[in-house]
Amino acid sequence: MSSLLEDRQLKYIKTGTELVIETVKSVLEHLEGEERMELLEEQRQQILEYLRLEIKYTTGKSILKNLEEHLKTKEGTMDTDMVAEFEKRYEEELKNKAKELTDESLKKNPKYLKVEQLISSKLGGGLADDEDLVCAEEETRQYIDPWSKKKIEIPVKNKVCGHHYDKETALKMLQRSKGKVKCPVVGCSNNNLKQTELEVDQEVQMIIASRNEQ
Ligand SMILES: [Zn+2]
Repeated sequence: MSSLLEDRQLKYIKTGTELVIETVKSVLEHLEGEERMELLEEQRQQILEYLRLEIKYTTGKSILKNLEEHLKTKEGTMDTDMVAEFEKRYEEELKNKAKELTDESLKKNPKYLKVEQLISSKLGGGLADDEDLVCAEEETRQYIDPWSKKKIEIPVKNKVCGHHYDKETALKMLQRSKGKVKCPVVGCSNNNLKQTELEVDQEVQMIIASRNEQ
């Protein structure tokens, strides 16, 4: 189990992703016609595969972290039951994330878009449709916490008004306040923030993580 979860895996994904970018550049530079199209398509599939691996990896890692915390309180050891427990949760989580793992949603990932943009800039084509434009906008958007005005580390989304905050900052604000907490986004009418209405925004988290790697 540990081999699956070592940070070596992340490094492998990162190196692989970089390799795809380099390969795409080289293919665009040196090849033409059908051969070029075929190899570009191969690289597209390759990067989707890396993105899929990344989601699986982070899923496994967070389950493991949970289990470890659980073990600390129980003073147990990582025995076979725990391995089975891990596998069970892992499978469940991947089932929950099935939609996230489809080509369609992976193609919205900034790393995939970077490859597409590289290709279209060289081949002279623009972005395919409005949806891609929205994603490109999303990619350049800054995620700033409205309270601290600092970059968001773990993004939580308010299910009521749709605004994003930094998780730690939001929780701090909720803990400190004695009365109701207002959404700090200017013009937002939500004036009763509840912890239960905040959820981690996985999509934004991936965008932030991919930027931190650059
Ligand atoms: Zn709001």
